[in-house]
Amino acid sequence: MKIADLHLHTNFSDGTFTPEELVFHAQKNGLACIAVTDHDSVEGCARTAMACEAVRMEFLPGVELTASLDDTELHVLGYFLDAQNQRLLSEIARFQVVRQKRIHEMVARINEMGVPLKAEAVFALANCQSPGRPHVARAMVKEGLVKSLDDAFERFLKKGRPAWVPKSKISALEAIELVHQAGGLAVMAHPGLNRTDDVIPALVEAGMDGIECFHTKHSTAMSERYLEIADKYHLLVTGGSDCHGFSKGKPLIGTVRLPYEHVEKMKQRRHRTQSAAAR
Ligand code: AMP
Ligand code: ZN
Ligand code: FE
Ligand code: FE
Repeated sequence: MKIADLHLHTNFSDGTFTPEELVFHAQKNGLACIAVTDHDSVEGCARTAMACEAVRMEFLPGVELTASLDDTELHVLGYFLDAQNQRLLSEIARFQVVRQKRIHEMVARINEMGVPLKAEAVFALANCQSPGRPHVARAMVKEGLVKSLDDAFERFLKKGRPAWVPKSKISALEAIELVHQAGGLAVMAHPGLNRTDDVIPALVEAGMDGIECFHTKHSTAMSERYLEIADKYHLLVTGGSDCHGFSKGKPLIGTVRLPYEHVEKMKQRRHRTQSAAAR
């Protein structure tokens, strides 16, 4: 059976794998199709596409947009989008500026607590346009300022901790529209992590195409619940491991195995929406 993993991060956001390393691991896990879904970035798509082509693996360009609705953060995945789309790229550039400013704010707060972390150390480690809290945590480990990544999150970076800085976010409804105008399908990421099922009807109303039923952090019961919701609202079913490389121990790639028939359904829907747009 052909298997896909549609939620993967590279070092163009907070994953540790380069696109080539990601494809190597995908191959090792027998995947027929992968999607890169970096946080607020599509920069890794081109290189991953090339690495996939070299080993004849199917690649879907993707993104994971940090969005919000009714004050809750939720992540909107975009698939099959045009990674050259001008509006998408200019919006992403804005999100990246927000992320970079936020690093400075987080570091300032960490410094206020008497911990001598330098913003430059975080940016050097992140080495990408879309830095986030995991990079801060990794820089702190590297500099010997905390024992572990968990330690950094528990003491400083988790929501409610002293160095937690909220970031201004695009509304999830706008995120769906942004993905659509770039030719993509919009999917709600890991709904079980956000515990915000009450927003699903509004997202469906806004044209959301699918829901990530299978995810590393979903229990079997959760996956079943979201499969029912997908059925109820006629949503596509997606899934992926949310692998961040070696940042959290053993790489998760391949641990969530999405049957390829779901990718086929995504393609059918994409053709339907595109021919509707052309009319
Ligand atoms: P950001 O987009 O900068 O807010 O960072 C979000 C990223 O941090 C996500 O990829 C999460 O996987 C990771 N993250 C969030 N909370 C924790 C935590 N408590 N421990 C480790 N990683 C976390
Ligand atoms: Zn991440
Ligand atoms: Fe996410
Ligand atoms: Fe993710």
